[in-house]
Amino acid sequence: RKKNADQPEFLQAVTEVLESLRPCIDANEELYKKNAILERITEPDRQLMFRVPWVDDNGQVQVNRGFRVQFNNAIGPYKGGIRLHPSVNLGIIKFLGFEQVLKNSLTTLPIGGGKGGSDFDPKGKSDREIMAFCQSFMTELCKYIGADVDVPAGDIGTGAREIGFMFGQYKRIRGMFEGVLTGKGLTYGGSLARTEATGYGLLYLTSALLKDHDIDIAGKTCAVSGAGNVAIYAIQKAHQLGAKCVTCSDSTGWIYDPEGIDVDLLKEVKEVKRARLTEYAAARPSAQYHEKKNADDHGVWSVKCDLALPCATQNELNLDDAKMLVANGVISVTEGANMPTTLEATKYLQENGVLFVGGKAANAGGVATSALEMSQNSERLSWTFEEVDGKLKGIMETIYANISDAAKRYNATVGGNADYVAGANIAGFEKVVNAMLAQGVC
Ligand code: NDP
Repeated sequence: RKKNADQPEFLQAVTEVLESLRPCIDANEELYKKNAILERITEPDRQLMFRVPWVDDNGQVQVNRGFRVQFNNAIGPYKGGIRLHPSVNLGIIKFLGFEQVLKNSLTTLPIGGGKGGSDFDPKGKSDREIMAFCQSFMTELCKYIGADVDVPAGDIGTGAREIGFMFGQYKRIRGMFEGVLTGKGLTYGGSLARTEATGYGLLYLTSALLKDHDIDIAGKTCAVSGAGNVAIYAIQKAHQLGAKCVTCSDSTGWIYDPEGIDVDLLKEVKEVKRARLTEYAAARPSAQYHEKKNADDHGVWSVKCDLALPCATQNELNLDDAKMLVANGVISVTEGANMPTTLEATKYLQENGVLFVGGKAANAGGVATSALEMSQNSERLSWTFEEVDGKLKGIMETIYANISDAAKRYNATVGGNADYVAGANIAGFEKVVNAMLAQGVC
């Protein structure tokens, strides 16, 4: 704690994870202690910090700070996104890197964990400024990464454009074409079905969860938050599986559409026009638009639903929302976004018998498909959409089976159900720890 006193986010993440791992840690106390497992797994393999100088459109030199934390490569090359946001600092990158180790382990694929980024703010920058930053960032980072070493990806502020600029610079400096980044364009090594992967994966896992409790997803009503990448493809897959999503939201308001969200219209409004949800409501007679009000406004969570799928942003489902969902008879809450449910809300849902699976497992379809992009790049082949989607479905079903099994093995239960949050942490942790033990003190 003392060593990381200036990194509150990292301390919070480690504390929460270790607390949920208690049954597993207690059962292996002696072995873990002798091998200093907890000390080793919470200390990154290395953390890189570097200067990123670039020239803005006025000819002025700007300087940002770049980070790459290579946290743990016990089961495969480091893998994790690059976040470009003014709030980025070492503690945040370490917290994200630590979580990524467990999440990547859960995917069942051979990928270790890392994270990177910079305090650069891409908002309001010209394409040329973005390229200047990305090239400078990669000029330093390229010394430490590689297809078998560390494979960064996108994250907040790093989309297809930034990945393209970074990939171009890597290729130019290293003189080789290899799958060093994921999230690439389809013309130069990207994977089909990556766009759909997180939303589709969420529904494959939700369906497996319900099936295990003898509940059919077909005919169920879903409340979905968000109207971005994860939400759109979660809604699409839910409809393909016979469920009906009646809500979606953006940061200014939300839609209730009792006839079910029209995915084609939603894609047109959000992906093509990049407009607000008011346009969806204007084009769809059955839809009601609700402006976002204050914190007391429960938004999409006030709608009676069987399945809740938070797919927007962190801390968007609080204790009062959870109480409303329970009062309305919700069966499951499965997280498409990262940390959308507050800690108190999670506890309330679990204690009241709601089947709850956190984002670490439920939204792992995105990173799993990035690992499938790595496999395709190594093979120098591109798989069809159906091939990638079929593998994604299998991976999500295995993730559910593994977290359920881990919870059962350690008697982790809450509210009469398996504690899938603990199960996810334990399943991810055990695989990494077993690899570390097998590889000796390193
Ligand atoms: P997008 O930026 O595509 O979409 C986010 C959506 O959420 C937007 O519609 C946004 O609205 C809306 N939103 C933001 N804040 C609020 C709010 N306070 N209330 C209601 N709606 C809000 O992001 P993604 O869909 O890619 O990601 C969503 C979440 O999923 C994030 O937590 C992300 O980290 C996580 N995730 C994403 C993965 C992926 O593959 N895309 C993989 C794993 C996790 P607006 O347009 O108004 O901002």
